[in-house]
Amino acid sequence: MTQPTFRLTPRGVSTSGARLSAVIATTIASVALAPILVPAQTRFTLDRNKYTLEQDVKVGQEAAAEVSKELPLLNDARTEQWVEEVGRELVAAIPAEFSHPPFRYTFDVINQKEINAFALPGGPMFLNRGMIEAGMSEAEVAGVMGHEIAHVALRHGTAQATKGERFQLGALAGQVLGAVIGGTAGGIIAQGSQFGLGTYFMKFGREYERQADLLGAQILARAGYDPRQMANMFKTIESESGGSRQPEWMSSHPNPGNRYDAILREAAMLKVQGNADSGDFSGIKARLAGMSPALTAEQIAKGTASKPGNTSGGTTSGGTRPAVRVEPPSSQGRTYRPANFLTITVPANWQPSSASDNVVTYAPAGGMGENGFTHGVQVGVLQNGTGDLQRDTEQMIQGFARSNPRLQRQDGYRRETLGGRTGLTTVLSNVSDATGEAESVTVSTTQLRGNSVLFVIGVAPQREASTYTNTFRRVRQTLQISDR
Ligand SMILES: [Zn+2]
Repeated sequence: MTQPTFRLTPRGVSTSGARLSAVIATTIASVALAPILVPAQTRFTLDRNKYTLEQDVKVGQEAAAEVSKELPLLNDARTEQWVEEVGRELVAAIPAEFSHPPFRYTFDVINQKEINAFALPGGPMFLNRGMIEAGMSEAEVAGVMGHEIAHVALRHGTAQATKGERFQLGALAGQVLGAVIGGTAGGIIAQGSQFGLGTYFMKFGREYERQADLLGAQILARAGYDPRQMANMFKTIESESGGSRQPEWMSSHPNPGNRYDAILREAAMLKVQGNADSGDFSGIKARLAGMSPALTAEQIAKGTASKPGNTSGGTTSGGTRPAVRVEPPSSQGRTYRPANFLTITVPANWQPSSASDNVVTYAPAGGMGENGFTHGVQVGVLQNGTGDLQRDTEQMIQGFARSNPRLQRQDGYRRETLGGRTGLTTVLSNVSDATGEAESVTVSTTQLRGNSVLFVIGVAPQREASTYTNTFRRVRQTLQISDR
């Protein structure tokens, strides 16, 4: 008897090696932790967490290795050293009750233009060059770093995964799909971003954002930075957004409400301990200004996704963009084996990419943007379901809806055979974060062994839905499952 491993990879008959991109996210579950209000600085308690500290570290290290592989690190010793020094000051200022000995904080700079920063469970932090370039002072950049460190110290990643219980559902910058899966070795939290390149998300709920702001402010003050600079940095980030596009940082760290006032109120109760400013910031900024410009997420994505001789696609704008002309689905099929128990046939002009061990996306050229994929199919596995397919599917969709407020049901579930077994299909509508246009989302699921659920999600613009509805149906009909 063969054991299904439930690892999906883009390998298959195709030899075009889409690179893996790692994206981790966690549930967007709202949080019920009540703040303890005292007339002094805010106090925090760790939320319930079923993971060990060592698991935080393991998950974070694995994800960090993927990030380092997928994203271009700046590799400028002087800049790295400066970030490292600021980081060390902040880490040393984490209150004792939240300084977990196994955690290892590391700091890397990604040569990416978009304003973003993220930290992984157990300590690895990545700061986009664009974040440093946008900062007006060392303390402002330290403000973002302090906020990220607070998320790590409060173990928000794995705490959110704990709340997700069976499923951790995330979403990428509002795009529909982050399907996510707990329960693999080490309890890793994997997130299926179709396009993890440059868009790493650990999207937190409002309560965790509030906590990270306030504990971050405390860490800043203890380290010797004025915590009010964190509020300033958030204003800087917002002002940089321009147009309809929110910097990535803002979409993964949503404003919990009255963000600035709350930080300033906290700051008023804090005493800044000395002055940590290194005096190097202007030198670092000048150094960065003298380098060739940072890469955009799209350039980074193209660097790995484009193939020599392939001239299709070719959008250059970032962020929200009108949907680019995407080649219609080829009538020829190409078969892939994303896992040893699964084969799927997709239009031959679609390419696979994988954001985690459990999710593979197949999309045409131009069907992927930095904010998500607009055309194509994502297939993945949710582990440790309840055994009740409709309930598990519903829970998955609710997870999507938490981070996609405009996601709406179009109809109920209908039964549909998937891979020779009973399955469920339902159609939803959404507004694409990538294009701002209405899109149609078809979700199909069926049961795998061990209460796991196989899901297939098709996404296409509403105006092309009639074409893609048929394509998605054909793709689903090609599924072959052999897990038992
Ligand atoms: Zn945050």
